[in-house]
Amino acid sequence: MKSIHTYLNFIDGEWKESKNGETSTSYNPSNISEAIGSYQMSTKEDLDQAACAAKKATKSWRKLPGNVRGDYLLKVASILEERLDDIASTMTKEMGKTFFEAKGETARGVAILRYYAGEGLRSIGDVIPSTDNEALMYTTRVPLGVVGVITPWNFPVAIPLWKIAPALIYGNTVVIKPASETAVTCAKIIQCFCDADVPNGVINMVTGSGSLIGTEMLNHPDINGITFTGSNKVGKEIARKAVENGKKYQLEMGGKNPVIVASDADLNLAVEATISGGLRSAGQKCTATSRVIVHTDVYDEFKEKLINKVSEIKVGDGLESSTWMGPLVSKSQLDTVLSYIDIGKNEGATLLYGGQRIEDKNGYFIEPTVFDNVKPDMTIAKEEIFGPVLALMRVDSLEEGLELANDTEYGLSASIFTKNIGNILLFIDEMEAGLVRVNAESAGVELQAPFGGMKQSSSHSREQGRAAIEFYTSIKTIFVKS
Ligand code: NAP
Ligand code: MG
Repeated sequence: MKSIHTYLNFIDGEWKESKNGETSTSYNPSNISEAIGSYQMSTKEDLDQAACAAKKATKSWRKLPGNVRGDYLLKVASILEERLDDIASTMTKEMGKTFFEAKGETARGVAILRYYAGEGLRSIGDVIPSTDNEALMYTTRVPLGVVGVITPWNFPVAIPLWKIAPALIYGNTVVIKPASETAVTCAKIIQCFCDADVPNGVINMVTGSGSLIGTEMLNHPDINGITFTGSNKVGKEIARKAVENGKKYQLEMGGKNPVIVASDADLNLAVEATISGGLRSAGQKCTATSRVIVHTDVYDEFKEKLINKVSEIKVGDGLESSTWMGPLVSKSQLDTVLSYIDIGKNEGATLLYGGQRIEDKNGYFIEPTVFDNVKPDMTIAKEEIFGPVLALMRVDSLEEGLELANDTEYGLSASIFTKNIGNILLFIDEMEAGLVRVNAESAGVELQAPFGGMKQSSSHSREQGRAAIEFYTSIKTIFVKS
């Protein structure tokens, strides 16, 4: 058997084995016998070392001028850019998304680093008139200290970087616990920080069990805040522990994102965006289109066009250039998605297309799947599936469509297809989602704009763009008299 590389933890500027020497292996979901690498199953002691190193490093890191911290991020960006193909292909092999998408995500990582490098020189406060006209009153921003970063596997480059980059530029240091499914991809990102000579302890990575390392992060006295992206179940547990331990926290969680197709929509555009939004990355995006709410006047035509296009989708290994949709990330994700498909059928939705595992391939491949006649109280209309499953729902009016779109505990992203300005304005006003998109797919996120959900989709905070400053800093109000 081919020997596989063992990736280590990164603590205080050094690659280190975990204290107990245990490792776990990451596999390719397109070819489940192919191991991508091993990573450390870390202990409480490893996390403690990383947190202490991060704490020690805050003293000098926060005192550096912002532009000097920015220069480090620029150096990391250049190294990541040089390694783009290697890191993107590692991502494809480790979690399945196509090489095309993985390259796009890695390029986004480069852009995120460059964007936040510039933040080092931007304004961080206000001058506020005092009632005492001999005084100077102003605000500034100070770093939180040590930030614990917990990330999912579905954007293994972009999400870590859109947390790490603002954390560092605003003067914090970081301990990251990446998703186990994509620990190897994360190690390659951290190698870029190492090779950019980011000072020891400023960034640390500890891999292993989410519940063990995550819990220790929340208990650790040197960690001041936790930023998390992942499932609602874990997010809520983190929030409870963060409150108990007095830590700042930020959660980005699930979605059940609707697209509304109005009677005057450009149907070709709507079909294209529904497929791209719902089925790219095999539907494993928090912003993926899941509920497809279509006006009755265009329902049948839309449905026919949709099925025609869905039937052309080529499923396969993401490294093959002809592949449009890769596999699901893991056996457990495959089982979850298949069980939702069963529930959909059992609850009376009509399976229009797909619904089966693709058995002739050595991976977790599944057909793109479309359900018809989905009713609002069905499980597949309510719960996040996180797979390539679209639920078609018929409505008689835009108002009914909006009501249905809002009939969910989630509020991450939503889109509408219509040419009518009145419809557009009503949708923008009434849609309960952190990201609303008009004549564009639900899954588009730009790094320079705030991102986050309403309702159960987030802790009501925002990431990315300038909005990131809210989590990664505290405001200090200053009053000065001579
Ligand atoms: P997950 O199971 O919640 O895992 C996310 C991260 O939390 C992983 O690093 C995991 O480690 C860790 N973890 C697991 N149990 C933990 C615990 N008890 N305490 C602390 N950390 C723990 O989510 P996932 O399955 O990786 O990701 C899919 C979910 O993420 C979906 O619900 C999706 O909607 C959401 N998501 C949201 C956004 C957004 O921005 N809103 C973006 C992407 C994904 P292990 O890997 O070691 O278990
Ligand atoms: Mg894997």
